This record gives sequence, C-alpha cells and structure tokens, in this order.
Amino acid sequence: MRMILVGAPGAGKGTQAKRLAAHYGIPHISTGDMLRAAVAAGTELGKKADAYMRAGDLVPDDLVIAMVIERLGQPDCAKGFILDGFPRTRPQAEALDRALAEAKIPLDAVVLIDVPDEAILDRITGRRSDPETGTIYHVRFNPPPPEIADRVVQRKDDTAEAVRARIAKYHAETEPVLPFYEDKGLLIRVDGLAHPDEVFAAITGALDAARKG
Ligand code: AMP
Repeated sequence: MRMILVGAPGAGKGTQAKRLAAHYGIPHISTGDMLRAAVAAGTELGKKADAYMRAGDLVPDDLVIAMVIERLGQPDCAKGFILDGFPRTRPQAEALDRALAEAKIPLDAVVLIDVPDEAILDRITGRRSDPETGTIYHVRFNPPPPEIADRVVQRKDDTAEAVRARIAKYHAETEPVLPFYEDKGLLIRVDGLAHPDEVFAAITGALDAARKG
C-alpha cells in the first residue's frame, strides 16, 4: 500500500496515519515529525526549518522534497508507505510524481480527510501529545489518562495565531494539490468529523474497495 494522507491541520492525519501504518504494516512518514526531530537535534535542516515552523509557514519546497525522497529510498519503504503532511504544495506533488515514476512505483491512493475550518481551531488548540509514545490526545475530546496527563506536551505551532496561518496556507497551497490527484483517479474523500474509529473504517473500506476495483 502506497498512500498519501491529505487534510487541513488538525484533520486527524497523524492519528489515522499511525493506525493505518500498524494495520498495513508499512512506515508512517510524517514530514512534520521529521522536521520537528531535525529542529530538536539541531541539524542544518532543523536550523533552516525552525523559524518557518514556529510562524506556521511552510518550509521551502526544495528542503522538504529532498528530505522525503531520501526517506522513500530507505529499505523499509520497499513494501509501501503512508505519507502524512506531504505533498503540501503543487511543486511537491509534481516532484514526488517524477521520483515515483522514475522508480516505477505507482501510488495506490490519496485520502483526503475532510474537516470544516470551524472545527479545526478547537481541535488544534486542545491538542496534546505524549512525548514518550507519540500518542495524540485532546484536553476535552480525548483526555490523556491520569498517569500520562503530567507529561503531555503542546506543539509550539499549536497556538491560535500559528493555527490561523496554517489553515490559510492549507487553502492557498495544499488544496490545489487535490485536482492533481483527482485527475489521476486516485483521490478518496472521507468525512473527518466522524469518530476516529469511523474515519479509520471509512478509509480502510475505501482503500480495500479501490484495490479490488
Ligand atoms: P504538521 O506536523 O504536518 O502539521 O507540520 C508542521 C509544520 O512543519 C508545518 O506547519 C510546516 O511548517 C512544516 N511542514 C511539514 N510538512 C511540510 C511540507 N510538506 N512542506 C512544507 N512544510 C512542511
């Protein structure tokens, strides 16, 4: 299974990607996680990406494209992968398309997790994650258990101001990627407002149907 998860910030891509990776036995490649790790490790890439990320801006295409192409070349991607948070711009989609075509690796599907803007701010400003396991919680909708509550952290770019910038970027830069995949017959839309279990069932159902069809 080679797939891309697309959706606005807070749509549930990370939550679903983790479950899908376990279900299909393939790596979850989150460009946001990779960039946060690069920032934390203080690598050259991390130093360049930090300011963009804090402001809710996109990191320049050339940096992100090189990072993803290198990652897809690693042996654990041979049987498949889930890309989460990439491509986020039309040039990223085109660069990925060229790289996959060169390697003769066809994509199976692009899943859009659809959530209206009104729901996003609430979801993201309440988002917390467990630094030890990566599990994502929400202070009201899915609170962490008491033994974990003390150690959960909030992302630096999950403030209301940065979230507004990220939503605007999503509409301006990422939505134009959708027709690119729709034209290829790869786009699957699921309702992201449903319970995470239902979203997961909708995604796997659609992917299995697409593979049979
Ligand atoms: P995410 O965890 O996917 O919400 O990403 C967090 C931040 O990392 C974004 O707001 C961007 O600053 C940066 N980022 C992640 N993926 C990309 C990408 N494909 N292109 C550019 N910037 C990205």
